[in-house]
This record gives sequence, structure tokens and C-alpha cells, in this order.
Amino acid sequence: MTIISDSLQAIQASILHAKQVAGRTDEIKLVAVSKAKPADKLREAYMAGQRAFGENYVQEAIAKQTYLQDCNIEWHFIGPIQSNKTQLIAQHFDWVHSVDRLKIASRLNDARPDTLTPLNICIQINSSEESSKSGADAASIAELAKQISQMPKLKLRGIMAIPAPTKDLAKQRAQFKIVADILNALKQDLDLDTLSIGMSDDYVAAIQEGATIVRIGSAIFGARNYN
Ligand SMILES: *Cc1c(COP(=O)(O)O)cnc(C)c1O
Repeated sequence: MTIISDSLQAIQASILHAKQVAGRTDEIKLVAVSKAKPADKLREAYMAGQRAFGENYVQEAIAKQTYLQDCNIEWHFIGPIQSNKTQLIAQHFDWVHSVDRLKIASRLNDARPDTLTPLNICIQINSSEESSKSGADAASIAELAKQISQMPKLKLRGIMAIPAPTKDLAKQRAQFKIVADILNALKQDLDLDTLSIGMSDDYVAAIQEGATIVRIGSAIFGARNYN
């Protein structure tokens, strides 16, 4: 059994170490990815000090939010987005990492309640050129970023990517560098601060390439079981 407070502590120490090795002094946010994990596991992580949680499925997330109403949690939506889910996402989350097309962005903007602060947005980019993977392609990213940055109820923060998995640290870094370069190019024209890259198996490489948010699931909560 995974003792969540222990794994959280170990990950935090490892993030700090990677940050020092990279010579960085800026903030790195740990988003605990809790998809397929029951709400009492999230509460356990919360009790251990974790505040940002990432979820992939809207209905599952809303059920957990109801159970965790008494907690001060920052909710991140990180899964693929269908048009018919944009309203619930706009109402129930603080961040969305997986915006990959204009239609989704404008629907989120339209549905974001006026009572809430603008929804923090990352554009998910497809850096690996595999047509099956989701994410905007590099060619369309600048135009998409410009349009999102003009939407009043959205706050464009940066980009997110999920490169093809590999155990090879050098390959991990090379893939993340492509993403970091794309962010840097966008920063010429836009005020962006977020590079959302790195998961359980590659967050050290991501931090070396400048990740400001790492999204870590199984290394905190244990392997997922989808039954
Ligand atoms: C599941 C998921 C993660 C976490 O993956 P782990 O390998 O369990 O750390 C991170 N980001 C996204 C978008 C995910 O879907």
C-alpha cells in the first residue's frame, strides 16, 4: 500500500533536488493527478499539505469536489475536452491544461461564470508529430495563443505537452526542449509564465528543461487500476 504522505514528501524532495541541479530558484507547482483514485485518497494528500489536484474526467472530478467541499483545493482539468463538457469545466475548475482548439477556448470563455476569476489556460501542444495524439500542432499555436489571450474570462498562462514516453533521459530532455522553445517563442509577444510538462516517469527531465508545473499521479497515489 502507498503511504501518500511519504510519497509526497519523497517527490517534493526530488523536485527540489532536480531544481537545484538545474540551478533554478523559481517556483515549481506540483499538481497531484488523482484520476481513478477515490476521494479519500485526495483527502489524505490534502491532509499532508497538497493543494493542487489534477483530474481527467469531469463527472468523476465533480463528485470528488462535492466530497472535498471543506478543503481549499486548486482544481486542474488535464484530460481531453469534448465540447459538451466545456460548461461544467468552466464552472468547476481553476485551471485547464488541455485546450487544443479555438472552439473549446471560446466555449470555456462563454461559460466561465462572472463571479469567478478568469480561468487559467494552457494550450496543449502536440510536440511529437504523431497525428493520433491530441494537442494543437506547432504551426497553429501562435494564432491560437493570440486569440485566447484576448478572451476576457480566460487567462492564458502557457503550454502543456505529453511527449511520447521513453525511459531515456536524454530523449526525454530533447522532447521537452522542443516544448520549452515553443513557449519561449510565444513569450516574445505574450505574457506567459507556465510550462506544464513532466509526469511520474519524466519529471526530472522536465524540470531540467524549465517545467513550472509537473503533473504527477502514480508516483504519489500508486498505480492506477481502472476496473
Ligand atoms: C494521468 C496523467 C498524468 C499523470 O501521469 P502519471 O504517469 O501517473 O504521473 C499527467 N498528465 C496527464 C495529462 C495525465 O493524463
